[in-house]
Amino acid sequence: MKPEELEQAPVIPLEDLLILKLMTLRELDTIDTIALLLENPEQINIASYRRKVVTADLTQHINARIEAIAQLLKSGQASEVWKRYMGTDLSSREIGTALTALKKLVIPTEFICPTSNSPQKHVFKTDAPRIDNLGNLYAFCPIHTYTCYELAVPS
Ligand SMILES: [Zn+2]
Repeated sequence: MKPEELEQAPVIPLEDLLILKLMTLRELDTIDTIALLLENPEQINIASYRRKVVTADLTQHINARIEAIAQLLKSGQASEVWKRYMGTDLSSREIGTALTALKKLVIPTEFICPTSNSPQKHVFKTDAPRIDNLGNLYAFCPIHTYTCYELAVPS
């Protein structure tokens, strides 16, 4: 490959790579996901990641996959698979790092409606939150059709 071609080689954003790996159920993708989380836990742009997941309507699917991988990490199954593919052990510190990084990738789906100035304030859950131009998540309350920005679980 010539140098000018190298410069033009497309770079897949980390967030895109993560989403691609998270979408599938194959063992190798689970291992790749954990490896990405361990290598770059601070470099993941959460706002960009959220926008991509939400606009692609993948919130439910990705959240479920995150939960599944967290369970694999907690049960020790991920460590076995990791050892098989990578030949090394996952340390408990690495498992902790991966779990912390995974937690940040969960798209919040519980919102508070209406805002605090109403006496009917209540929490509702949505399958498909939306995201505005500024990157804020919101959802419409199914009872009041009120646009709700306030997350029930602070991110
Ligand atoms: Zn409501």
